[in-house]
Amino acid sequence: MKTIMRRAAVCLLAIVGLLSPAWPWGNEGHIAINRVAAEKLPPDVPAFLRKASAQLAYLGPEPDRWREPTELALKRSQEPDHYIDLELIEGMNLPPDRYSFYRALEARRQQTPGHPEDLLPERVGLQPYIAMEVYQRLIVAFREYRRAMARHRSPDFAEANAIFYAGWLGHYVGDASNPLHTTIHYNGWVGPNPNGYTTANTIHWKMEGIFVAENLKQLEFADLVPAQPRRLTDPFEDYLKYLRESHQYVETVYQLEKAGGFDGQGTAASREFIRQRLAAGATMLRDMWYTAWLQSGQENAGGM
Ligand SMILES: [Zn+2]
Repeated sequence: MKTIMRRAAVCLLAIVGLLSPAWPWGNEGHIAINRVAAEKLPPDVPAFLRKASAQLAYLGPEPDRWREPTELALKRSQEPDHYIDLELIEGMNLPPDRYSFYRALEARRQQTPGHPEDLLPERVGLQPYIAMEVYQRLIVAFREYRRAMARHRSPDFAEANAIFYAGWLGHYVGDASNPLHTTIHYNGWVGPNPNGYTTANTIHWKMEGIFVAENLKQLEFADLVPAQPRRLTDPFEDYLKYLRESHQYVETVYQLEKAGGFDGQGTAASREFIRQRLAAGATMLRDMWYTAWLQSGQENAGGM
């Protein structure tokens, strides 16, 4: 089955299987990542953001609410934002913006025999691009907040924007902590399979949806998020590094699955693994919020 069809099948399975929308990390995982990131904000970010943890948590699953067939243009426009198949772009120097990436992919596609459709942007996925676009919106909202404060105007509208962008950003940062959002093996092993990993198109939802939702209490991970935030030095490069680190665990997911790690309560190893991944998501998100706040105070924040 072609990639797009297979991705559609993930959604279909989720709907048919559970009669409720069920997506990457599920509602529970995304809510938890956003909530923990909010609770771990340091005191030097504005109080309005620290007080917004309930709203930020609510926004964690927001882009998954944009997947209904009733809003088809929206659904199709944004589904590739949730993943990137890093195997397909190995060795490529990723440009910093979405349209330059389209061009780079097209060049690679033209050089590849058969010009495979798997190298179209919507097949490869656009994860780091949407993340940076929303991240930079957050910088802008923070900057407007600073200006309102400096000019003794009400910051209410800028605050509302910043909370929305911060929560929206959390979705993609959360997705990226899930190794299955970085790979062609996103829902069943594809190609040569000497280790006999599952090829069933159920592993994705089994791990991030059912397993997380059923074991939420045992998977609490706030203690794994360092108290001190890290200021990112180069947000795009740091984000790519974060994605590649997540990608290193693709095979671990399949090994854990093979050992029954996502059935019922799983195993000690599978629970620890999921805790670590959720914590990686919340840590990166908290650090991106923090860095956006600091960047918004600089001249020419966000660059040209
Ligand atoms: Zn997603």
